[in-house]
Amino acid sequence: MADTGPLHHPEAELLLDYAAGKASQAASVLVATHLALCPECRQRVREYEAIGGALMESTPPVALSGDALSSVMARLDQTWEEEAPKPAPVVDEETLRLVPEPLRSYLSAGIEALPWKTRGLGVREAVLDLGDPSVRTSLIRIAPGRKILSHTHGEVERTMVLKGAYNDSTGRYARGDVAVGTPELDHTPVAEMGGECLCLTVVEGGLQFTGRFSRLLNPLMPR
Ligand SMILES: [Zn+2]
Repeated sequence: MADTGPLHHPEAELLLDYAAGKASQAASVLVATHLALCPECRQRVREYEAIGGALMESTPPVALSGDALSSVMARLDQTWEEEAPKPAPVVDEETLRLVPEPLRSYLSAGIEALPWKTRGLGVREAVLDLGDPSVRTSLIRIAPGRKILSHTHGEVERTMVLKGAYNDSTGRYARGDVAVGTPELDHTPVAEMGGECLCLTVVEGGLQFTGRFSRLLNPLMPR
């Protein structure tokens, strides 16, 4: 059977924000990691970016003086030097197999080396530092047949499955699937019996991001 890709995707609004560089750093990592596994959403984001690019091209160009131009070029050179690619982290085979970029870059020592904390029976969590304290980003491991109890309200929680599968009142989620949990949702994921379920979760409050993490600064889109 052909690989049809994930069945559950990030909402269109988030993909649009991502394409416009308006999503939070953590949400951008989640989207980009989903894109690594989802041809359908890669295509949608390309279309959104093409629309955004066309809008930008339709605005009249601003003439730059010779000085301004050379200072821009100097800045570009500087940025290039500052952002020279880091050596790829050496991680174990399971991490390589389960975790696509860009998420993998945040797990420099691999999944097992993360600071895992017990969160109830059969559930462990490792909080990731994605450079934004207002967004809680973590990896969650749920033992077979165990569940995560419902969580706090007033927040949007996005979960992407990396390994195994879980079920809740909204359906079944397997590798690459993204679940969007709003405060109204009864959200009690139960891992399937076949094996451990490993998920990435990003919990955001009501903050609106205003392009602070622009795609130019954070080129997270897989190429
Ligand atoms: Zn998708």
